[in-house]
Amino acid sequence: MAAAGKAKDFYKVLGVSEKADPDEIKKAYRKLAKRYHPDANQGDDQAADRFKDVGEAYSVLSDPQKRKQYDQMRKLGSLGFGPRSGPGARPPGAPGADPGFSFDDFQGGFGNISDLFSSLFDLGKKGPDGGPAPGPGGQSAKSPRRKGEHVEYVVEIPFLIAARGGKISVDVAITEDCATCGGDGAKPGTSVKRCEECEGTGNISFGQGGFAVKRPCPACFGRGKLPGTACGSCSGRGAVRQQRKISLNVRSGVETGTKVRLSGQGERGRAGGPPGDLIITYKVKPHRFFERDGLDVHVSVPINIVQATLGSKIRVRTISGKRVVLTVPEGTQSGTKFRIRTQGIEKGDRIGDQYVEVVVTVPDQLSEEDRKAMEEFAEASGLKH
Ligand SMILES: [Zn+2]
Ligand SMILES: [Zn+2]
Repeated sequence: MAAAGKAKDFYKVLGVSEKADPDEIKKAYRKLAKRYHPDANQGDDQAADRFKDVGEAYSVLSDPQKRKQYDQMRKLGSLGFGPRSGPGARPPGAPGADPGFSFDDFQGGFGNISDLFSSLFDLGKKGPDGGPAPGPGGQSAKSPRRKGEHVEYVVEIPFLIAARGGKISVDVAITEDCATCGGDGAKPGTSVKRCEECEGTGNISFGQGGFAVKRPCPACFGRGKLPGTACGSCSGRGAVRQQRKISLNVRSGVETGTKVRLSGQGERGRAGGPPGDLIITYKVKPHRFFERDGLDVHVSVPINIVQATLGSKIRVRTISGKRVVLTVPEGTQSGTKFRIRTQGIEKGDRIGDQYVEVVVTVPDQLSEEDRKAMEEFAEASGLKH
């Protein structure tokens, strides 16, 4: 068992090695699909489950691109990474992130790896909006038209963009109609024939708990038709994974956990259905200097003993990039906080303040002159040293 969570190991399901070539995978699938086919196993729930698993495994392993992604996830799974393994990971598409697949794809708000597989590989497990799975009373075999899956991403944004607002761009991997074949999976100029596996319905039914449950046919990817000659660009799938660059206007004052929904920017719909939505969840990166508390911003500024004792003026940076002059009165204790009004974060018609904590630092090295001055001071105040 390699992949984490509830996910099944697709290689084990098909009984092939992870180095199996496409032919071996196809053969294994054919054999198992025949053995567990509902027609040959009337009323056998276990066989129905196996049939379903075999179909899922094949729909992933028979597609070179999905298989590659799956292999990467599987490797991560066997390394002990689970979904939602921690807050520190970098989301895909964040400024500076590596392009392509990364472990952080796990972070996009998916409940578990199984959900992630369904979503990534469009296994048809969930209905749109997390609704009921297609099943009893679900879509009829004749109208597989349905809305595309929603896609969720966690996107890290710099502190100052979150605080002030601004533009970021996000790379999102989305399944789109193949441009070469227009989505029917056939090499341009060649014909399309009926899929024998599902008898042209695009779905495969199997019994589960006394109900007939339908799933998209893994042989024709739910289209009911098979290309005579597969399109070279998409291997007959009719769809390709595309990196899409999306430019986002971030409103000022967004926080970690703030979500935005981009309607129609998710996965394409099935059979002409409308596309799903893209849901972005922001994760605000910490800043070296500024810290945030609601709409207020906190900073701490070191001052030396002389500045604290005699008083001084210091310059403090604000989130808008201004430098504000702050008067530190004489006799200021370390830890004293000063407030600079309306220099915090603006959100709607509210605006926060900036708090400056001064921290008195003690010099670890003294010049000859300073030492002498200190000693004289100590003597005058009757201090021993
Ligand atoms: Zn194509
Ligand atoms: Zn089919």
